[in-house]
Amino acid sequence: MKKSIEPSKAAYEALTQEGGLSRRDALKIMGLTGGSAMMLGAPTSANAGSSSDKAVKIVIVGGGAGGIMATARLRRAAPNAEITLVAPNETHLYQPGQVFMAAGLYTESDIQKPNADFIPDGVKWVKDEVTAFDPDNNKVTTAKNGDIAYDYLVVATGLAYDYERIEGMSADLVGKHGISSVYLNNPVAGTAKGGVATAQWFRDMRKAAEAASPENPIKVICTQPDTPIKCGGAPQKILYLSDDYLRGNGPAGGADVSKNAQFSFCKKGKTLFGLPGYNKTLVEEVTPMYGNITDKWDHVLRKIDPERKVATFEHTYEVKGEYDEDLQEYDMIKKTEMVEMEYDFIHVVPPMKPVDAVANSKLGWQKGSAKGWLEVDMYTLQHRRYENVFGIGDILGIPKGKTGGSARHHGPILTENLISVIEGKKPTAKFDGYTVCPLKTQYGEIMLAEFNYDGMAPSFPVLDPTKPRWIWWAFDLYMLKPMYWYLMMRGLM
Ligand SMILES: Cc1cc2nc3c(=O)[nH]c(=O)nc-3n(C[C@H](O)[C@H](O)[C@H](O)COP(=O)(O)OP(=O)(O)OC[C@H]3O[C@@H](n4cnc5c(N)ncnc54)[C@H](O)[C@@H]3O)c2cc1C
Repeated sequence: MKKSIEPSKAAYEALTQEGGLSRRDALKIMGLTGGSAMMLGAPTSANAGSSSDKAVKIVIVGGGAGGIMATARLRRAAPNAEITLVAPNETHLYQPGQVFMAAGLYTESDIQKPNADFIPDGVKWVKDEVTAFDPDNNKVTTAKNGDIAYDYLVVATGLAYDYERIEGMSADLVGKHGISSVYLNNPVAGTAKGGVATAQWFRDMRKAAEAASPENPIKVICTQPDTPIKCGGAPQKILYLSDDYLRGNGPAGGADVSKNAQFSFCKKGKTLFGLPGYNKTLVEEVTPMYGNITDKWDHVLRKIDPERKVATFEHTYEVKGEYDEDLQEYDMIKKTEMVEMEYDFIHVVPPMKPVDAVANSKLGWQKGSAKGWLEVDMYTLQHRRYENVFGIGDILGIPKGKTGGSARHHGPILTENLISVIEGKKPTAKFDGYTVCPLKTQYGEIMLAEFNYDGMAPSFPVLDPTKPRWIWWAFDLYMLKPMYWYLMMRGLM
C-alpha cells in the first residue's frame, strides 16, 4: 500500500519556515503531537540542580552533538569556570538527517547550521584540532594553537570512518561505479556527501530497475561492517527505503519496479537486531514484506573491485565435525571462505574506529575488544584511570550508545558527575545505556527501537514498541530536527 509521506499542514508550515524558527516555535511544533513527551527517552532530571561556583579550567574537545550539549550544560552549571571548546568545525551537521537526505526528503542545507549559533557566551572557542592528549600533565596539544592546560577534560571527538580497511575502497569512490555510503560526511568542512550521493543512488537504481525485468533483475548489495558503528540501524534504513523507493513510495513516486531488483543484506551475525522483540518484527514482517531481500548472515565486506563491480565477503560458518561420545554431541568446526558477489549497486557502511588522537593516547582502552575507545566507566562516564576526565558521545568505549539520542542522555550524567568531582565528591549519577534507533522500515513508517543496558526501554510502553508506526516517522521527519537545534544543542533536553 502506498504511504503518504506528506507532512500535516501545520508541521509543513513550521518546517518550511524553519530557517527562522524560534525556540518558542519549536516548542509549538512539538505540541502538535505532544512531542515534548515523545522526545526519545524519558526526560532525564540528572544535573538539574548541580552547580559549582569554582573558578576551574574545563576543556571540551569536539564540537559535534555531544561536545555542544556538554558545553551548553557546563556553561550553566559552572558559571565561574573558564571553559574552552576545541572544535575545528565552522558548520554543525545534524547527521541523523543524512538518511532523510538519501530518501529525497531533506537537502544538505537542511542539516547544516553555523556552529557559532550553538556556542554559549563566555565560552572560548579554539578553532583547532587536538593532536595529542597528555592526561598525566593535564594538557592537550593542538595542531595550530600549541598546548592547552586544563583542570578537567571532556572528550567528545566522535569516531572516525575507516573505508580503507576494505581493500580497494576509499571515500572518493562514493558516488561512482554504483557505490554509495550514507554515512560519509566531513564534520570539519560541514558537508554530508553521503546523503547527496545516496539520494542520487536511489534515483539511479530506480532508473536501472525500470529498464530491468524479474528474469534479469538488477543486483543490489547493502552491507554492515563488523566494527562498532554509530546509529546501528542506518544500514537497514537504507536497505528498506531504497527498496520502497523502487515500489514507488518515495517522493519520485512511479510504478512498482521492485520485482526487477534483488537485494542482499550482508552482515556479521544471524540477527537483524540484537534484541529479540525488535528482531522478530524485522525478520518476520519487514523483510518478507519486500519479497526481494536475502539476508546473507556472517558475510563481512573485505574487498571491492569498482571497475568489475564485484564485492568480496568473508563468510564464516560452522560444519559438523566428529561425534563426541562423552558429550553426546558433534564438534562444531569454524570455517571461513571468501565469497565474490557481483552487484550493480552497493551501499557500503564503513568500518568505524576511535579517532587517532584518542586511540594513540593513554585515554583509550589499552587492550581488549574496546582498544582505543575512551576508557570510561559505563555508568558514570568518568575515565577509569584519570578522575578529572569525562567523555560523551560516540567515542565512549562502553557497551551501548553510539547515537545522538544516547549523547543527549550522557549530557546530564556527565555534567552532574563532573560537578561532583569539582566539588570534591564522588560521582553518583548513572547512565543506563539508553540508545535509540528510529528504524525506517518503509516510507512513512518507523519502528522506534529504544533500549538500554537492561533490554527494551520504550518511552511509551503503552504503544507496542516493536510495531512500525507513522507517528514515529512524522516525529522523526518534522520534529526531531528543530528539537535538536533549539533544545538539545542548548542543553535544554
Ligand atoms: C547516517 C547517520 C544516521 C544517524 N542516525 C541517527 C539517528 O537516527 N538517531 C540518533 O540518535 N543518532 C543518529 N546518528 C548518530 C549521531 O549523529 C551521532 O551518534 C552523534 O552525532 C554523536 O555525537 P558526537 O559528539 O559523539 O560525535 P559527532 O557529532 O560526530 O562530533 C564529533 C566532533 O568532534 C570533532 N573532532 C574529531 N576529532 C577531533 C579532534 N582531534 N580535535 C577536536 N575535534 C575533533 C569532529 O570534527 C566532530 O565535529 C546518525 C549518524 C549518521 C552518520
